[in-house]
Amino acid sequence: MKPGDKVICINDNNLYHIPVRCICAGLIYTLTEVFRCKCGNVYVRLAEVDKFYNMWCPKCDTTNYTKMFFHIERFRLLDQAENKEEEQVSVKVPVVNPN
Ligand SMILES: [Zn+2]
Repeated sequence: MKPGDKVICINDNNLYHIPVRCICAGLIYTLTEVFRCKCGNVYVRLAEVDKFYNMWCPKCDTTNYTKMFFHIERFRLLDQAENKEEEQVSVKVPVVNPN
């Protein structure tokens, strides 16, 4: 996954029983940033969630007031095959011979 990729949220549950704000399973988001925390956890930022919040990394127990980020495993790349199917739907208009 890299910035600009479209991803679908597959997990909006929170292990710590705190509701995950701003993301919803089944919705599609655009990555703006992929980064690794000093502890090794990989997080993403989303174009659709442009808010600052007191973010917490559970692995290294670091809290930062920063733009909201989410664990990368909450998302998967949007299936490229789905896009191809859409392209194939386009109907070719037959060329009409004026004669
Ligand atoms: Zn961390």
